[in-house]
Amino acid sequence: MKSKPEVIIVGAGPAGMATALQLKRYGIDAVLFEKDRPGGLLINARLVENVMGFPKGISGPDLVKLFCGQLKRFDINAVNETVMKIDYDEISETFSVSTNGGSHYPAGVVVVASGTRANEWDQLNSILPEIKKYIFHEVVALLDEKGKKIIIIGAGDAAFDYALNLSAENEVLILNRGTEIKALLLLQDRVKKNPAIDYMDLATVESIDPGKKRSLAVGVRQNGKNTIQGADFIICALGREPDKRFYTLALNKLEEQLILRGSLHLVGDVSNGSYRQVSIATGNGIQAAMKIYHQWGSGQ
Ligand SMILES: Cc1cc2nc3c(=O)[nH]c(=O)nc-3n(C[C@H](O)[C@H](O)[C@H](O)COP(=O)(O)OP(=O)(O)OC[C@H]3O[C@@H](n4cnc5c(N)ncnc54)[C@H](O)[C@@H]3O)c2cc1C
Repeated sequence: MKSKPEVIIVGAGPAGMATALQLKRYGIDAVLFEKDRPGGLLINARLVENVMGFPKGISGPDLVKLFCGQLKRFDINAVNETVMKIDYDEISETFSVSTNGGSHYPAGVVVVASGTRANEWDQLNSILPEIKKYIFHEVVALLDEKGKKIIIIGAGDAAFDYALNLSAENEVLILNRGTEIKALLLLQDRVKKNPAIDYMDLATVESIDPGKKRSLAVGVRQNGKNTIQGADFIICALGREPDKRFYTLALNKLEEQLILRGSLHLVGDVSNGSYRQVSIATGNGIQAAMKIYHQWGSGQ
């Protein structure tokens, strides 16, 4: 067997955490980079009902706490740095991973577990900074808000989950620019029954100005009619795309080849298309760790 290479994992969401944990169980210490806080997107989930072992479901933040405890038990700590660039040198067959800390780390194997990033609302560029500060793409920053009115733009699982989450303490209005709702029927049903959530379809935001009673006065057009909706915050839940902004062009070209060679692994939401679920992400991570161990062995 070849000697064990340095392994770098980009992202400490469920996929990266599971990879690090399984590698550690094989005696392989990987360097796990996280730009924000461990747990990833899961911190936004109101109620996770499809991770086995929690018959009553569990909130995203509580599940993240359990994941972090599991890493702690194995003495795994994420390095709080953003991976800015990953390059690959074909002669030495080595990756070079650069972080915002100004460090460059060599690695024989890289596991990309960087998840997805929110699609930005196309109108965001034209919005003034003093208004922009009330606009978010995830719910996590608003979880402590009470008595506010929050507009959510979007009609997928995340939009409906955010609405249900915030409705416990706030009023919510969901704006769907079309008529199709992509959220799970179960979530749609819960939203329908929730008196704190209003829903408008064929509704587009035409203007956002500073408000009087609330921070924002949002001009909404529906069926040819304009109304002004007061709001304290807006969340844009307009889908997400894989986040591989740190790839160099060279790495982008080599990606497929390196995956085939077993030097590069993509795990979790970054590579799962529409199959973005915690258990799939953790399963991917465990599988990647097993492949790394079987390919590279346990010898240092
Ligand atoms: C509202 C909502 C509800 C959900 N509910 C459920 C549910 O009920 N059941 C379920 O199974 N799934 C649910 N999900 C989906 C679940 O959260 C994701 O499938 C899961 O978090 C994916 O894990 P991941 O590790 O692949 O990616 P992520 O969780 O996105 O983690 C990626 C991590 O990488 C980090 N990162 C990215 N780029 C860099 C970089 N350059 N340098 C360093 N770190 C980086 C990010 O900060 C992040 O922590 C929900 C998601 C949302 C938004």
